[in-house]
Amino acid sequence: MSAQDGPMGGAREPKHDVILSAARSAESKDPVRSQPETLQPDGRAESFDSASFGRSAQDDSVQVFNPADLRIGQGYDVHALAEGRKLMLGGVDVPHERGLLGHSDADVLAHAVADALLGGIRGGDIGKLFPDTDPAYRGIDSLKLLAAVAEKVREAGYDVLDVDSVVAAQAPKLAPYRDAMRENLARAMGISPDNVGVKATTTEWLGFEGREEGISATAVCLLCRCRSRLRLGRDDGHDTRA
Ligand code: MG
Repeated sequence: MSAQDGPMGGAREPKHDVILSAARSAESKDPVRSQPETLQPDGRAESFDSASFGRSAQDDSVQVFNPADLRIGQGYDVHALAEGRKLMLGGVDVPHERGLLGHSDADVLAHAVADALLGGIRGGDIGKLFPDTDPAYRGIDSLKLLAAVAEKVREAGYDVLDVDSVVAAQAPKLAPYRDAMRENLARAMGISPDNVGVKATTTEWLGFEGREEGISATAVCLLCRCRSRLRLGRDDGHDTRA
């Protein structure tokens, strides 16, 4: 098979070569960058003149996308602390004398992340999707709700690229559980823990968190609607389209 042959042995489309050239570069350089200079070498790749290429953190593929197809989302949630409840945060049962009150397991961090994802696709919020009047969601593991939201994001054509979050709680100390929370949230969303940030802060005894009346969480996410995905091969390497 010649260098000009496509994956099935036929002639490659010129624009495919252009994409592959950018993919090779994306493989070795910045994970996400614009390469407009790579995209118009022969004037036959006009449709990719505003494309960018990002190396996927999940596998060996390179995603092709238009920067206009990036979306951000933001989520915020609050739950009150109450006696006789577990304190579930990011899917971790955190030892504490009180837990968060809610219809579900009241995992305020999972809820904030889910709302960030929904914000990114302009998909409403989890209160609308999973109403607290529905007995089906009583006591439910909020990671299941997050997984359902992530699936909704994929159905809308978006990939979750990155998530960051903050939990505001005066007590207990959450640092020992942070990595477990990241792994749980990442698994629910089907992404790498490397792409999930969890931080914790007190509010210096100020506000409802500081008075230990409740816990809040905020989250942001970056979503991308990819045009196509190229899987990097080993030999000629870059001509296997996923
Ligand atoms: Mg909530």
